[in-house]
Amino acid sequence: MTLPAKPLIDQFSRRITYLRLSVTDRCDLRCTYCMPERMQFVPKAEVLSFEELRRLAQGFIARGVRKIRLTGGEPLVRRDVLDLVRALGREVGAGLDELTMTTNGMRLAEFAAPLADAGVRRINVSLDTRDRALFQQLARRDGLMQVLAGIAAAKAVGLKVKLNTVALKGLNEAELPALIAWAHGEGHDLTLIEVMPLGEIEGDRFDHYLPLTAVRESLEGHLTLTPSAHRSGGPARYFDVAETGGRLGLITPLTNNFCESCNRVRVTATGQLAMCLGGEAEVDLRAALRSDEPEGRIDAALDLAMRTKPERHSFMIRGHGEAPALARHMSATGG
Ligand code: SAM
Repeated sequence: MTLPAKPLIDQFSRRITYLRLSVTDRCDLRCTYCMPERMQFVPKAEVLSFEELRRLAQGFIARGVRKIRLTGGEPLVRRDVLDLVRALGREVGAGLDELTMTTNGMRLAEFAAPLADAGVRRINVSLDTRDRALFQQLARRDGLMQVLAGIAAAKAVGLKVKLNTVALKGLNEAELPALIAWAHGEGHDLTLIEVMPLGEIEGDRFDHYLPLTAVRESLEGHLTLTPSAHRSGGPARYFDVAETGGRLGLITPLTNNFCESCNRVRVTATGQLAMCLGGEAEVDLRAALRSDEPEGRIDAALDLAMRTKPERHSFMIRGHGEAPALARHMSATGG
């Protein structure tokens, strides 16, 4: 692969090749650990237009980004999301190695085929439980059947599905072995994620914080987990599970910091470049896009971001009653 004229290399010599681009902060679920029921979404006028998203993505590709993940909020609630997928899908095999999406699966039954037609090959679907009542409790919407239908539709059109599951003490904790077995039986990898203290919610995240060190120990009571060299370009570390023949990923921002290998940045739906999921600092790409000289301003903004991307996030979950480490919700940054 030839390097672009000005690759994105940060002050710690990490090369940034992966962009998570949020297309909306809105969502059709209200997962209790993610956001409050009455979440304040940004006014639509502040959200980047389709054309701005496309131009921004091109700016990143020109600087050597090889993988773009569309996310949100829930990307599939945005009306013109398929236009963007089609436009960026044309870059796959040229400027991009991969275009992917993270979705809650609620609308996937309808969108799976057009996504595959537009050049998406792999997709992440968030699924915390296969228990309908628990799904409703966690997501505050009765959506499990829709999500399962979405996952089945994705599989049917040949999309490689990876499931993402936030591990929650006393909620889906007991179900995790069965969820992993089901996912692997269906041919899907599954990645467990530690809950992160991002943004205000009604409850206390510490009540359900489940360190993955404990989950791994418990799983190893009856499963053989062998560390795998597999990498998906994100922060997960993988294990082959002998008994299921599948792969289990662990994303451990709290118990095992992985920032030294960070290769990504995120852009919020309003065009704010977040250099780190766990840092407040943002660079305003929307202002650059809407200026008289967008290309130069975007380049300069990206250079500034590379000089200021922090070495690592520093959020922790220590105990009850803590304020979130960051005001910004995961759904706003682009999960
Ligand atoms: N709506 C899409 C989805 O559900 O996959 C994309 C955005 S969502 C914010 C991305 C992922 O972040 C989901 O898997 C969700 O469970 C996870 N998530 C949200 N808030 C989180 C938090 N505070 N800690 C850990 N994961 C979180």
